[in-house]
Amino acid sequence: MTAPILPGSTVGVLGSGQLGRMFAIAARRMGYRVHTFSPDYDTPTGQVADVEVRGSWNDLDAVRAFASRVDVVTFEFENVSSESTAAAEAVVPVRPAGSVLHTTQNRLREKRFLAGLGIPVTPFAAIGSVAELEREIERIGRPAVLKSAGFGYDGKGQSKIGPGSDLRTAWIAAGSGESVLEAFVELECEISVVAARGIDGTFAHFGAVRNDHAHHILDVTTAPAAVDPAVARDAVDIARTVLEALGVVGVLCVEFFVSKSGALMVNELAPRPHNSGHFTFDACVTSQFEQQLRAVCALPLGSTEQLRPAAMANLLGDLWSGGAPRWERVCAMADVKLHLYGKAEARPGRKMGHLTAMAATGEEAAARVRAARALLTAI
Ligand code: AMP
Repeated sequence: MTAPILPGSTVGVLGSGQLGRMFAIAARRMGYRVHTFSPDYDTPTGQVADVEVRGSWNDLDAVRAFASRVDVVTFEFENVSSESTAAAEAVVPVRPAGSVLHTTQNRLREKRFLAGLGIPVTPFAAIGSVAELEREIERIGRPAVLKSAGFGYDGKGQSKIGPGSDLRTAWIAAGSGESVLEAFVELECEISVVAARGIDGTFAHFGAVRNDHAHHILDVTTAPAAVDPAVARDAVDIARTVLEALGVVGVLCVEFFVSKSGALMVNELAPRPHNSGHFTFDACVTSQFEQQLRAVCALPLGSTEQLRPAAMANLLGDLWSGGAPRWERVCAMADVKLHLYGKAEARPGRKMGHLTAMAATGEEAAARVRAARALLTAI
C-alpha cells in the first residue's frame, strides 16, 4: 500500500491559474502547505500558496529544485512538457503521471486512444497537409472542423469548414501543422463528467452536468444535466473506462457531445479539475479540488454527494468593458456565491471568476445564476 501524504505535508502544483488557486484553497484548508511553479508572478495560485516559484517550463533544473522541496507534485496546467514532468518524476511522485498528460495533450493521440477503447468519438481524420485535407474532407463531409492537434483549448486553433470554405484558408487558420479533421455534429447539448480515481483504484464521480458555451468558451454549467438517465449512465461508464485505462490518480474531466439523435460522443479529456466542476466547491460534500488533493496524497476519496441542484456561470473579462462590475449587487444576494481569481487584468474572453447558485432544480439554479451575472453590468 502506498503511504498517504498527510496534512502538514507539502504539495507542489505545476501551473498557477485559477484551478491551482482553488486547489490551494482546498489544500490549505486541510493543513497542507502548497508550492506553485510557473513563469509568472503574483498569480491566482501564488496569491494563495505558501510559496510561489517563478521559473521557465524549459528550465529542468528549476523544476527539479521545485520538486525536491515538496512531497508530491500535481499540475493544474495540462500543457506542461513531458521533459518537465519527467524531471519532477525523478525526484517525487507526480500524480496523475506524466504519461496521462502525454496522451491528453495531443488531440490525435487522445482520439486514437479513445477509439482504441471502443469509445464513441466524432468521425475524424489525421491531417498533415492541404493535400490530405482535400482528400479527407471528401470522406468526412461538410460541415467539418479542423483543429490543431497540440495545445488547443476553448476553440483556439480551430476552423469550421462549411460548404463554400476554402481549404487552404482553413489549414492556415488551424495553424498549418499536425491537425485533426472532425465531422461537425448537430448538437442537442454538451455534457461532461468530472471523476476521480484514487491510488487504490477507487472511482468516484460528480455525475453528468450540462455545459452551455458562448463563443467556444464555457458559459454556464447546470448540475445535474437534465438528460435521459441512460445517457448520463453511459457518460459515467465511459468516464470510468477512461480513468481506468489511463491509470489516472487524480481528477479527470470527460467532455461529451450529445447529438440531435441522442448519441453520446467524447469531445475531449482534461486530466485535472475542470471549469464544469466548479459548482462542486459550493454544492458537494467534497469539491473536485479536495478530491484531487485526496487522490494525489493517496488518501481515500471523499463523498461526491451533491447537496442541492446547482449552476455555475463564468465571469469573463468582457464584463469589465464598462468599468468594474457591480459586485455589491451580487454580494447582496444571500444565496449566490462569488469566486474571483485575483487576476489584475480583465481581457475579453479571460476567465476572471465565476458565480454559483443552488435551487430546487438545476434549471432554476441556472436562471438564478444568469440573472445574478446580468446584474453585474446592468445600468
Ligand atoms: P473544443 O476546443 O474541441 O472543446 O471545441 C470547443 C467547442 O466548439 C465545443 O465545446 C463545441 O461547442 C464546438 N465544437 C467543437 N468541435 C465540434 C464538432 N465536431 N461538432 C460540433 N461542435 C463542435
